[in-house]
Amino acid sequence: MIDIGCHLSVTEGYAAMASRMLRFGGTTFAFFTRPPRGGRAKEIRPEDADSMNRIVREAGFGKLVAHGSYTMNLCGAKAETRANALDMLCQDLERMEAFPGNYYNFHPGSHVGAGTAAAIPMIADALNASLWSGMHCTVLLETMSGKGSEVGATFEELREIIDRVAFPEKVGVCLDTCHIWDAGYDIAGDPDGVLQHFDEVIGLDKLAAVHLNDSKNPCGSKKDRHEKLGEGQIGMEALRRFVTHPLLAGRPFILETPNDDEGYIREIAIVKSWEDPDR
Ligand SMILES: [Zn+2]
Repeated sequence: MIDIGCHLSVTEGYAAMASRMLRFGGTTFAFFTRPPRGGRAKEIRPEDADSMNRIVREAGFGKLVAHGSYTMNLCGAKAETRANALDMLCQDLERMEAFPGNYYNFHPGSHVGAGTAAAIPMIADALNASLWSGMHCTVLLETMSGKGSEVGATFEELREIIDRVAFPEKVGVCLDTCHIWDAGYDIAGDPDGVLQHFDEVIGLDKLAAVHLNDSKNPCGSKKDRHEKLGEGQIGMEALRRFVTHPLLAGRPFILETPNDDEGYIREIAIVKSWEDPDR
């Protein structure tokens, strides 16, 4: 069974998202913990959260992959930017306690000229200031494309962050297929090599979730422009081989492709059709 889903809007509440994904035919989904471009987080009503948790459990969904705001930059140049980001992170992780056992993914940040060597300890410090031993969610660092001054475009950078975290068991990685392709990892030509490299540098036990996207641009372009499955430079067959790779079994796959509802329903059905009935 492949757990596949897409991002859903939280505007109608949490239980409504789970019901919506049932109608879409998927068994996981992603949602923003606050408006993606910034702003206040919507209040979580405990009965709404409980009812979402019940629907997800009864339908046998895979883990959900919540997404932090794009504006949250834990390694920004200004102290105020970093303090705001830490504030958001702390609030988001507290909110995630309403959905125990799921994932919270975020972009490690952009160093805006200071360099990754300066940025990595800032990101790790923020994690050390926000994670706690009894928390019920796992925080995922997303692999990035290397656009601008993004941190996390190499597996080594993510490993360095994790190495500095006091509770490494609370931290994993969300692999974005468009981002790593744009960063120069050839998942179409050498998926085994890429996963083996990930295993050597970070460890596949840390690979918790996948953002499943095609890319508008060639491998190594450092662009970060997502494309619909099969309509980009990675291609449908390479994405199928990657999703069904035995080393990725059991991970939730989240579509972040430029689609409307019908497009997501179609892509979820495509990925479900790749399931091996014998597995
Ligand atoms: Zn992504």
